[in-house]
Amino acid sequence: MTTETRLRIAMQKSGRLSDETQQLLKRCGLKLNVGDRRLLAHVTNMPIDIMRVRSSDIPGLVMDGVCDLGIVGDNTLEETALERELLGQNSAYTKTTGLNFGGCRLSLAMPEEFNYTGLASLDGLRFATTYPQLMKRFAKENGINVDFCLLKGSVEVAPRVGLADGICDLVSTGATLEANGLKEVEVIYRSKASLIQGVELAPEKQAILDTLLPRIQGVMKAKE
Ligand code: ATP
Repeated sequence: MTTETRLRIAMQKSGRLSDETQQLLKRCGLKLNVGDRRLLAHVTNMPIDIMRVRSSDIPGLVMDGVCDLGIVGDNTLEETALERELLGQNSAYTKTTGLNFGGCRLSLAMPEEFNYTGLASLDGLRFATTYPQLMKRFAKENGINVDFCLLKGSVEVAPRVGLADGICDLVSTGATLEANGLKEVEVIYRSKASLIQGVELAPEKQAILDTLLPRIQGVMKAKE
């Protein structure tokens, strides 16, 4: 009996990256049943399986070797890598290629009435964020002392309810900040989606990637 080697790619199940990721795979010629709700879906014309998961689970699945590749935002990738490093877990990965979608920035934002006079004016304040590791790294590199509290969603509400002085959150247009009485004061990280892989692929899987990667790069180039 032969078992075919299949490349397993993790992508976001539903959210801001899922449509563009699905489009990218389709433009690369991968035949997937679009209506397929299965969490592990077979590509019918290439030895590839697509695993649909939460974005925040993708880096760990790749770093642990459960998935060979993943498509994820750099923000989630770096946050997870820093967190796993701290916990002594495997945090190694390779960025196979950057992708030209999912652009956003991780920014510090304060209530509109806050008198922002530079980073020093944030010293000693408390920030609500989903990205404590990226925020801690920024604070350390810039010599400011900040406290944080972890919120997985609705971060913008934190200052209004007295949970934090400001927030550190993802922004693309700034409309959500404005709607919540906040102003962006510093960009701490710029992010896009990336294709990532664990450190080394078995030769059969590398061969599948060698076919797929030029297609991905071609689609990206055509979009420029
Ligand atoms: P999960 O799938 O774990 O629920 P999530 O809550 O981060 O992940 P989304 O809000 O769909 O899910 O965001 C997915 C990714 O999309 C982000 O990590 C980021 O890389 C990218 N992104 C692009 N623009 C924005 C934005 N304005 N706000 C949030 N994320 C953005």
